[in-house]
Amino acid sequence: MSNKSSLHFSTRVVHEGMTPAEWQGATLPPICQSAAHRHETAESLSQTFGGKTTDHIYMRLTNPTNRVLEKKLAALSGGAGAVVMSSGMAAISNGCLGLLRAGDEFISGRSLFMSTYILFANVFKKYGITVRLVDPCDLAAIEAAITERTRFIYLETIGNPGMDVPDLAATANLAHLNGLPLLVDNTLASPYLCRPLELGADVVIESTTKYLSGHGDACGGVVIDGGHFDWAGSGRFPDFQPFIDRKGPLAYLDKVWREQHINFGTTQAPLHSYLTMLGLDTLALRMERHLANAQEIATWLVSQPKVKWVNYAGLPANPSHATASHQFGDLGYGGVLAFGLADQEQCFRFINSLKMVYHLANLGDCKSLVIHPYSSQYLSFTEELRAQLAITPDLIRLSVGIEAVEDIKADLAQALATL
Ligand SMILES: *Cc1c(COP(=O)(O)O)cnc(C)c1O
Repeated sequence: MSNKSSLHFSTRVVHEGMTPAEWQGATLPPICQSAAHRHETAESLSQTFGGKTTDHIYMRLTNPTNRVLEKKLAALSGGAGAVVMSSGMAAISNGCLGLLRAGDEFISGRSLFMSTYILFANVFKKYGITVRLVDPCDLAAIEAAITERTRFIYLETIGNPGMDVPDLAATANLAHLNGLPLLVDNTLASPYLCRPLELGADVVIESTTKYLSGHGDACGGVVIDGGHFDWAGSGRFPDFQPFIDRKGPLAYLDKVWREQHINFGTTQAPLHSYLTMLGLDTLALRMERHLANAQEIATWLVSQPKVKWVNYAGLPANPSHATASHQFGDLGYGGVLAFGLADQEQCFRFINSLKMVYHLANLGDCKSLVIHPYSSQYLSFTEELRAQLAITPDLIRLSVGIEAVEDIKADLAQALATL
C-alpha cells in the first residue's frame, strides 16, 4: 500500500509508515541499536553532513527506528514532518525554544500540565523570556496579550486537570491574523480524537508516553510541523531565513532539530520508539473504549452523593461542552476527568481504599489511574498559585482505563462507600 491517506484513521494507525519490504519482510520495524552508522566512502559522509542525503550518521542526530515513528506520527497528524524526542517535556522545551530568544514573549493558556507551567513561568524567565498566561478559552484575552515581541500562542487541546477545551480553529485564525503560529499540546486528546493541524494549528506537540504508547512502558515526545506557516511573510521571524533557505516549508522543524534537539541531546532511545509503535497499532481501539468508559463514569459520578462536582467536557452542563462537541465531532470527550470529594482527608481515604484502580502519576495508560494533584504534582506550588490554577484540596484526577466499565465503577463505588 503506497498511498494510505484515503483510508480510515483506524486503518492508517496500523499501516502508516510500515514498509516490510525494507525490513526483509519483517512485520515490525527493527530496533536499530547502533550509536553510529558506517559510511563506505569519505564523500558519502561529507555529503550527509552537508544535508545532501538523509542517511544516518550518529544516534543523537537521527536513528532508523525513530524515523519510522516520525513518519508515522507526521502522517497520522496531517503534518509535513516530525522529530521524536526523549520525553514530552523534551518536545515542549525544544518546540518552544526553537521560536524564542532572550527578550521574546509568548502567550499560553493558563491551564497547563504541571511541568510545562514551571518551564514557562519559572525556567524561561531566567533566560529573559516572558510568558503571558491567559484563560485559554478567552479569545479577547489572548488578543489583548499580543505585543510586538510575541512569537507564538500555545494551548493544550484539553487542559490537565482543568479539562477546559479551547476553540483551536478560532485561535489559529486569530494567531494568523497577527503573523503568529499556534502550537498545541495534543497529549490528552491524541490524534484519534483531535488533529489540531487540520483545524489550522501550525505545530503539534505530544507526549507519546501517554495514549500513543498506551501501556505505561515507554517515555517519549514528538514535535510535528504542519509545514504551512509563512515564516518569511510573518515579519516576526527574521532569524528563520537560513532555515527557510535550507528546508523551505519545514524551516521550523529543521531549526528545532538542528539547534535544540541535536545540541541539547534529547534523543529518543530506539527501543522506546519501537514500544510506541507497538502501542500505536491499538490506539484507535483503545481510545474508543477510553472515551466510552470516561463518558459513562463521568455520568455515573454525577449521581453519587459523596461526589460534590464532576469536571468533564462530555457532561452537557460543562462550560467546554459546546466547543468540545463541535471540535471532536461525535467521537467523545477524552479519557481523563476530574471530580471533587468533601476535602483532602476524604480524597486520601478514597484513594487508600481503591483495590483495582492504580494510584500513580501518569495518564493515558490502559489501566485506570487516580491522583490527588494538590498533594503530589502541585505540592511545591504556593497556596495562592494552586487556587489560581484551580488545583483545590478536594480534587481527584481520574484517567479512565479500558477495563470493563462495570469493574471500574464497582471499585470506585466501594471506595466511595468508605467515606
Ligand atoms: C505527561 C504530559 C506531558 C509531559 O510528557 P512526558 O512524556 O512526561 O515528558 C506534557 N503535556 C501533557 C498534557 C502531559 O499530560
